[in-house]
Amino acid sequence: RKLGIALVGLGKYSEGELAPALQETEYCRLAGIVSGTPEKIDKWKRKYDIPDKNAYTYKTFDQIADNPEIDIVYVVLPNALHAEYVIRAAQAGKHVICEKPMATTAEDCQKMIDACKKAGKKLSIGYRLHFEPHNLEMMRLGQKETYGKVNRIIAENGQKQGNDTPWRLGKGLAGGGPLPDVGVYCIQGAIYTKGQVPISVTAKFHPVTDKEKFKEVEEGIDFQLRFADGSVADCRTSYNDKYNKLRAEAASGWFELAPAYQYDGLKGETSRGKMDIENVNQQARQMDAFADCILNNKETTVPGEMGMRDVQLIEAIYRAAETGKPVSTADVRQVLDST
Ligand code: NAD
Repeated sequence: RKLGIALVGLGKYSEGELAPALQETEYCRLAGIVSGTPEKIDKWKRKYDIPDKNAYTYKTFDQIADNPEIDIVYVVLPNALHAEYVIRAAQAGKHVICEKPMATTAEDCQKMIDACKKAGKKLSIGYRLHFEPHNLEMMRLGQKETYGKVNRIIAENGQKQGNDTPWRLGKGLAGGGPLPDVGVYCIQGAIYTKGQVPISVTAKFHPVTDKEKFKEVEEGIDFQLRFADGSVADCRTSYNDKYNKLRAEAASGWFELAPAYQYDGLKGETSRGKMDIENVNQQARQMDAFADCILNNKETTVPGEMGMRDVQLIEAIYRAAETGKPVSTADVRQVLDST
């Protein structure tokens, strides 16, 4: 039998990407939904043939514990709500996928990890690019040092943020601006290309050009990750500019993706020529990989600890931007070692 996934939060990402991807998965299927909006529940029930008993509201959510058709709860809510629903899902005896960023504080991440451990359930983060062949190639070329030691990485992810998801501009629900939302892909890309976790960070906020819109969260931020071997990753992220690139400059060549982080249409090139790699349904691969971990009792390659590591780095980057000083990651590196 295919494992049953329940999506919690039927917003843009669930509707536009995850539900369609679940029509292409081999080891899991869309079995349930959780939403506060009755009209959405009706629409989804009809569209995806979901029985009444598998549709929940936030109030009835905990009853999911009694539903054997739901094996995995996938939390796709605004960032600050991830912790509560991951913890409640674990307490209901379900395996959990949590969207990025894992939470708005590292403290919450720890509670989420602890709740899943206590319940004996697996926890993974929605880091779809770990299942995407172009990004897997960046990991291979960088970590195997195919072009020699990687000296410098350039990781840039920016997108114009409109007003379609207003919670993204509020500190309360988002936790921050572009850094936790899209900048986390730069942190991820730098670490999985280098195969190391940085030892320190520096950062600088972009000037605010739209004071009305960016009252609570940053408009953009440049940051540099420094690795133990002296190499660096120069990163930038913005809600007011468009860029999408992951590039590695190594001792005897370079390799890069542009665009690097989107759902489709990724392109890769190296100093030896173009990468000949197909685009795939990233979310289908990601969810099937997690289902495989559950079915065959394997460890996920994108565990809660990795999500927490990145939230700790986000906190360090904000600290560096606020103080104008380098911030060491030494105090957080125990949990930062998985790449
Ligand atoms: P969205 O605003 O479109 O969806 C969020 C959903 O949560 C909405 O349906 C909303 O009704 C519901 N919700 C429940 N309680 C809410 C509350 N108190 N306030 C606001 N909304 C509430 O957002 P989205 O773009 O779908 O993002 C959801 C999550 O998925 C975020 O954590 C985001 O970072 C993540 N995401 C990940 C990717 C990826 O590529 N992995 C892409 C997009 C979004």
